Amino acid sequence: MIDIIPFLPAKRKQSSSGWVSFNGPCCVHNGESVDRRQRGGFKSSNEGWSYHCFNCNFTASFILGRNLSIKARKFLSWLNVPAEEIDRIQLDSMRHRSVEGIIDERQKIADAILGIHFEEKDMGGVEFVTPDHTDIWNYLRRRQVPIDYPYMISSTKGARTGVIIPFTYNNTLVGRTTRFLDDRKPVWINDFQPGYVFGTDLQHFDWQYVIVTEGIFDALCIDGLAVMHSTVNDAQARLIRSLGREITVVPDQDRAGMGLVDRAIELGWAVSMPAWEGCKDLNDAVVKYGRLGALLTIMQARETNKIKIELRKRQIVKAIS
Ligand SMILES: [Zn+2]
Repeated sequence: MIDIIPFLPAKRKQSSSGWVSFNGPCCVHNGESVDRRQRGGFKSSNEGWSYHCFNCNFTASFILGRNLSIKARKFLSWLNVPAEEIDRIQLDSMRHRSVEGIIDERQKIADAILGIHFEEKDMGGVEFVTPDHTDIWNYLRRRQVPIDYPYMISSTKGARTGVIIPFTYNNTLVGRTTRFLDDRKPVWINDFQPGYVFGTDLQHFDWQYVIVTEGIFDALCIDGLAVMHSTVNDAQARLIRSLGREITVVPDQDRAGMGLVDRAIELGWAVSMPAWEGCKDLNDAVVKYGRLGALLTIMQARETNKIKIELRKRQIVKAIS
């Protein structure tokens, strides 16, 4: 395993229990004052490492054989580990991936740390969508979603026409949704595990904000997260919080979407309900105003004050009734 001890601040001390303490590089990035009391603690073994800051409460960990998490990447970048070195750590970790038996053990450790577990799924008979699948390709272009996402279609003869959007978590396949393009019902078929949130793999490690939406296309077109219904269950809330970002909920501007607003208030999360003309959801807004335009309106309309959120919600309810 690549040793990251050399990257820790030179001013550090080691306890007999193996913890190395130094001034946390995390605090200033998490809205806390600079750590001058060596409150960052780091411990490593042949299997990985773990970090905890007693000043800002930031935590990050890494387990050999698993992908480097967003938080681990963040931590390494705050230690000024060069980007190439971070990539090397990731590659080195992946080289250990095939070691059987050990993975399960590591998976358990990682799950225990975050309290999150998704079963790996098999994709079955599918193929990637290419521009040759004209109907689906044009549909995706129309929805203004990034075309480099690995969209798929069923390769089974006689299957309904539809685009399959694989669900991943730490780049492991854990489910899927299918949006059918024939005029039959149901329009969507989901296969997702309890507590799953779509889009964690779309997040860049250095992003400060995360946008939480309801639908897959809403999330895709803006690199946000999708909770896939008009509420956020407790497991989803834990997962979203674990990303360590400033959260903004962007609900659908319809009656069901207002349920998401109530839940966001409960969770103490910011809500943004921009005054979009004729747009029911974020994806409509991206199609109408472009990605950047939609993002700007979201940031401008971002509201953390509960009373102001309630007022804006009332306006919307009035407008749609
Ligand atoms: Zn800290």
